[in-house]
Amino acid sequence: MPGKLLEGKSVALKIKENIKLEVGSLKTKYGLSPKLVSMQVGENPASEIYIKSQEKTARDLGIDYELKKLPSDINQDEFIKAIESLNKDKSVNGIIIQMPLPQHIDAKLISRYLSPLKDIEAVHPQNMGEIVFGTAKILPCTAAACMELLNSIDLLELYGKEAVVVGHSEIVGKPLALLLLNKFVTTTVCHIATGKRGTLPEFVKKAEILIVAVGKAGIVKGEWVKEGAIVIDVGINRVEGKIVGDVEFERAVEKASYITPVPGGVGPLTVTILMRNVVEAFKQQQGV
Ligand code: NAP
Repeated sequence: MPGKLLEGKSVALKIKENIKLEVGSLKTKYGLSPKLVSMQVGENPASEIYIKSQEKTARDLGIDYELKKLPSDINQDEFIKAIESLNKDKSVNGIIIQMPLPQHIDAKLISRYLSPLKDIEAVHPQNMGEIVFGTAKILPCTAAACMELLNSIDLLELYGKEAVVVGHSEIVGKPLALLLLNKFVTTTVCHIATGKRGTLPEFVKKAEILIVAVGKAGIVKGEWVKEGAIVIDVGINRVEGKIVGDVEFERAVEKASYITPVPGGVGPLTVTILMRNVVEAFKQQQGV
């Protein structure tokens, strides 16, 4: 029997309902709506889609949204000044910096200048540290989306399960491994060196929970998926005009107990988590 689909939309709907209610009561209590500012340097067709989706989701949930466009030739110091000015602006609760940034701007350095209280993507080292401690209230959106998908599975006991995360980026793989560890999941992280050594199939075959975030279509063969595994495919790849994930879906769905479709799995949840983080940031700034 093919695996059940883990669709992000239905999970996102429930979270959105809660956000709407919370935004409503915050408005009543403080006479203010949470506000998100998105910073975009230059034009980038890939970020346009995300920006539109962020704006629509924010407005639907009663969150104020502003897009701050900066010229592509802005120098790093001027960009830092623009961030610091938003840090000081009391009407702004959350800041997101659209990626990719032009090459002359160092994204890692920039993340240090965001106020940790307004860093709704959890890219500031302080917020990353809170994840290590297991005390973070604002979680990296994609990693948190994967955890929400796992939580949506009825009767799934994470404690003691064996997971493999493929990909160790700062925004997805690494924080996700920590979130899984915080739930006592025995977690293995595979990366480029695992691929080069040729041992990726061995690790994947053992995974009760498999999460893949690489960005290479079909890097995980369906054949490798363990019978009954839960498979979350974060990858987004355009192949012959179609969007596909990193896992060979047709074969993997026959072996998995649950599997995310691409598109329609992690993606719809990510922007919802971003909005939840804006509301959390608002509350922290009000001292709630
Ligand atoms: P990234 O920063 O490029 O990271 C990719 C990771 O995969 C790196 O850790 C890389 O290792 C590793 N890797 C590369 N080749 C490998 C191989 N052969 N075997 C094992 N690991 C390998 O990408 P990202 O930002 O994490 O995103 C990953 C994918 O998720 C992309 O397709 C992206 O579009 C998608 N994504 C989706 C959402 C969503 O909402 N659905 C959100 C974010 C990202 P090295 O760093 O050592 O090279």
